[in-house]
Amino acid sequence: MGWKFRKKKNIPGGLWVKCPSCNAMLQRKKLEEAFGVCHDCEHHFRIGSRQRAASLLDEGSFVEFGNDFLPRDLLEFSGYDGTLERSRKRSGMNEAVLVGEGRMEGMEIAIGCLDFSFVGGSMGMVVGSRIMAAAEHALEKSTPLVLVAMSGGARMQEGALSLMQMARTSAAIAKLGEAGLPYVSILADPCTGGVIASFAALGDVIIAEPGALIGFAGPRVIQTTIGAQLPEGFQRAEFLLEHGFIDRICSRTTLRAEVASCLRFLSTGRQTA
Ligand SMILES: [Zn+2]
Repeated sequence: MGWKFRKKKNIPGGLWVKCPSCNAMLQRKKLEEAFGVCHDCEHHFRIGSRQRAASLLDEGSFVEFGNDFLPRDLLEFSGYDGTLERSRKRSGMNEAVLVGEGRMEGMEIAIGCLDFSFVGGSMGMVVGSRIMAAAEHALEKSTPLVLVAMSGGARMQEGALSLMQMARTSAAIAKLGEAGLPYVSILADPCTGGVIASFAALGDVIIAEPGALIGFAGPRVIQTTIGAQLPEGFQRAEFLLEHGFIDRICSRTTLRAEVASCLRFLSTGRQTA
């Protein structure tokens, strides 16, 4: 099987970057300007949440909030403080999600983007609280919500507190539904575990990036548990689209226009209803 879950796909350092898919030599600056999409083969590199927010929002419109929620080692889990410290240094983030408000093609929205470079984009207490803050902000301002999920799942260092975030975030999304406010969920590579088992799977529209790995347990775990071979491409975005789990696949180059069009459609329905 060609599973490459552990293969690093974020943009490495240096002036030039080799595309892992087509081997083209890409100028790092140009690649960053293209929000991490190879101009030759459209390979999607992993990008950080600030770059992600910039790729989706009108220039200069993003205003962050929720950053006063900061992670703490509540369970005194061995090594967790060190993990957080290393992640802060490596990613320049203070948690695995960035939330705020901004404009998308002129529309006010609340937005949250997970960042895989911070403890694998895992969801602990603070990620849950920030996503709730984004949903509550949308509710308060009567705006749509857009979340980009990119995560290894629940944060094991926060144990049951981490699992509780599945219920907290799902409840926050349910309130948006009751208020008739649209929520678009974007699934980037990889989107697994407790994140896909909660808010990421609850979008009114669920859009995945091409080739993204999406699933609850990893393919190896499933294969050993059920003792059977899994079909080719199992848990990739294309397979999930074919089986009705997601609504569409969209390249990052046209994602902003696609999400904006979904939001306009859903918002128009709401006004005339
Ligand atoms: Zn390429």
